[in-house]
Amino acid sequence: MPGQDSETIFTKIIQGEIPCQKVFENEHILAFLDIAPLAEGHTLVVPKCQVERLEDLPPETAAEVARQLGPIARRILAATGAEGYNILQNNGKVAGQEIPHVHFHIIPRRPGDGLGYRWNARPADPQALADLAQRIRAATD
Ligand code: 5GP
Repeated sequence: MPGQDSETIFTKIIQGEIPCQKVFENEHILAFLDIAPLAEGHTLVVPKCQVERLEDLPPETAAEVARQLGPIARRILAATGAEGYNILQNNGKVAGQEIPHVHFHIIPRRPGDGLGYRWNARPADPQALADLAQRIRAATD
């Protein structure tokens, strides 16, 4: 069944078997500092249920993540003095997901921090976009 994946290091952290620097916890999620931060305050927000990818997250858990991301980010900014942040969420090895347990990165940003975020976007053919949007609307879950 999709989403019922084997244990990862995040499950061990959630269960307290491996230590972490916790910044927030409730019934549904645990947020802790990334062990190899891209910036001071780089935090991982991790649903406690063992699910690999975003599309497999139960809706109530997804809602809780959405509720908490902004407040956690606000506290990170207050504590670190960062001016902004990126939310990064990787799904699948091809997208750079190393730990197959769904998680959201909060990456604080400061002027001149040297972290990039622009990818190589190219304008698309409008008809190709329309056709693709139609195919996506017609796709099943
Ligand atoms: P991904 O590439 O899967 O989106 O990101 C995984 C993140 O987990 C990486 O940023 C990595 O530094 C972090 N990470 C991996 N193992 C540990 C760990 O044991 N503890 C903590 N706090 N972070 C970890």
